[in-house]
Amino acid sequence: MADIIKLLPDHVANQIAAGEVVQRPASVVKELLENALDAGASEITLVIKEAGKILVQVIDNGMGMSNADARLCFERHATSKITSAEDLFSLHTKGFRGEALASIAAIAHVELKTRTETSEVGTKISIEGSQVIEQESVVSLTGTTISVKNLFYNIPARRNFLKSNTVETRHIIDEFHRVVLAHPQVSFTMLANGSDVFKLPESNLRQRIVNVFGAKSNEKLVPVSEETEIIKINGFVLKPDFAKKGRGGQFFFVNNRFIKSPYLHHAVLSAFEGLIKEGTTPGYFLFLDVDPKSIDINIHPTKTEIKFDDEQALYAILRSTIKHSLGQFSIGPVLDFNREAELDTPYDYNKKSPVAPIIDVDKEFNPFQKESTKGRGAVPYQKEKGASWESLYVGLNEGFGSVPRSANESANSVEMHFESDEVTGTLFDDESEAAGQTTFQLQKKYIISPIKSGLMIIHQHLAHQRVLYEELLKNITVQEAVSQQLLFPLCFNLAKPDVEILKKIQEQLEHTGFVFAALKDDIVEIEGIPVTVAESQIEKILEQLINDIREEVPDAGFSQNDLLAKSMAKSMAIKTGVSLSREEREHLVNQLFACKEPSFAPNNRAVLITMDVNDFDKKFL
Ligand code: ADP
Ligand code: MG
Repeated sequence: MADIIKLLPDHVANQIAAGEVVQRPASVVKELLENALDAGASEITLVIKEAGKILVQVIDNGMGMSNADARLCFERHATSKITSAEDLFSLHTKGFRGEALASIAAIAHVELKTRTETSEVGTKISIEGSQVIEQESVVSLTGTTISVKNLFYNIPARRNFLKSNTVETRHIIDEFHRVVLAHPQVSFTMLANGSDVFKLPESNLRQRIVNVFGAKSNEKLVPVSEETEIIKINGFVLKPDFAKKGRGGQFFFVNNRFIKSPYLHHAVLSAFEGLIKEGTTPGYFLFLDVDPKSIDINIHPTKTEIKFDDEQALYAILRSTIKHSLGQFSIGPVLDFNREAELDTPYDYNKKSPVAPIIDVDKEFNPFQKESTKGRGAVPYQKEKGASWESLYVGLNEGFGSVPRSANESANSVEMHFESDEVTGTLFDDESEAAGQTTFQLQKKYIISPIKSGLMIIHQHLAHQRVLYEELLKNITVQEAVSQQLLFPLCFNLAKPDVEILKKIQEQLEHTGFVFAALKDDIVEIEGIPVTVAESQIEKILEQLINDIREEVPDAGFSQNDLLAKSMAKSMAIKTGVSLSREEREHLVNQLFACKEPSFAPNNRAVLITMDVNDFDKKFL
């Protein structure tokens, strides 16, 4: 047989690699800003046009590049930052893989102008899709200017995949924030479509935060500082009163690199426990310095995750440091009389016995009691689903990750418990069930079931999302959802623009079972909710929905219904980490296969996989 293996041409390899490094204009912004910092710049300007889709330009006064380097920097694995693998352990630069510029040049029109201090003239290079179009000597200042135009011009699929300008600009600003907060000693300017967005002079961290987030932030900052053998902590947390709904304003930097760490985030949250309202998140700017040998930063350029050797100790130190800071600034618990009693549930609610008020409410509402006793066959599909799924939450431990259940969820399961006392048993003790299939649960995440050809593995959270999604979508379009009337209307406040968003989708929400008594200014008052949802989840679901809508900027019509159903299904779906009884598993599987599209979750992730016995056989050869 003839040889068939060929090496991919460089420009193809670069294009493939580019997909990893460059997801959106914000990725280009990050890479270019980091290169400018690595080049020792003290002044950096970022210019964007059309959310970076037309232009991302970074101008720096750093060390610049020689004529030869200017050409070389676009080659893959071209880097001045390491020469051997050992260097990896003593890195002080942001980049080192030498892939960013090669990747960017493969998928955009790039122009580079650069000059080192010692050379008289600078170099200008134009590259399109990895091909050098032009190289010439030019007069220029010391430093580097890189312009990246028409990103993804040669990959239309990626270009089409980009979100609206609002969304892409926000991603860019997020990256910009992460860089400028970590480098207050460098002055930054950002221009978007010709006008100034940020002008940040060289300063200290506090001033930098104030310059970025506005003068009012100054009084919100509580300094945090601690030094132990394994970690040095510096920075600020925001006073508890300024904790906000949803994410945003949380920054961890480890060795001056922005990272995400749900684990450490939780340490901060736990330091604020009792000081902030349920469902709100405190803001923070925390700089952690640790021995580089004690961490494992995933060296993938777009990843921001990190692993620490001594995670638990760091958790404890961080938590107590922040508690101490909050205490020092005598920030005591805040009393808030507007809170719904139900939302006030403390973390240790589990230890207490369930109490009357919630039960009273639920006694009024029990639309399933009658139907459920008739057995499964006689129950209308939708309602049966409501009842059985509610019982799923009974006394379950959400052991997912290290994050304990929120008070809301605890309240929820207690509430459900009462209900299920009356309904379960009759619902599932159906003898016809006993024959038939067996299912198992794996790691509180997958449902495993033998099938004729082998084995089927179902992702429980995604499966439930699919079930809820189809049901919600049907309700929104066919408009026949059942609503559960609340004895006491649910009342809470949201930001005015958020209430506006709800108003726009009020009609669709009502089709899912919501009944709004008021939606005006910052007030949301709800009289009825979908039967499949617990009252305590409502606020969270609506907030998630508002967030999702803001992210997506959908047009009216179908896509909006779709988004709404997707978002609600996601918030409502049973989570990974929840154990399911045999009946619950089988019920979910049955519901899944009653769906139009059981194989995929609404976000197109696979819901299930099958494994053929033949595959097993091969393993035993
Ligand atoms: P990396 O940053 O991982 O080394 P890049 O592809 O981002 O890889 O950059 C390749 C090389 O180009 C860098 O190592 C550096 O030598 C040079 N370079 C890139 N941007 C600049 C800049 N703004 N100023 C000076 N040199 C730069
Ligand atoms: Mg780089």
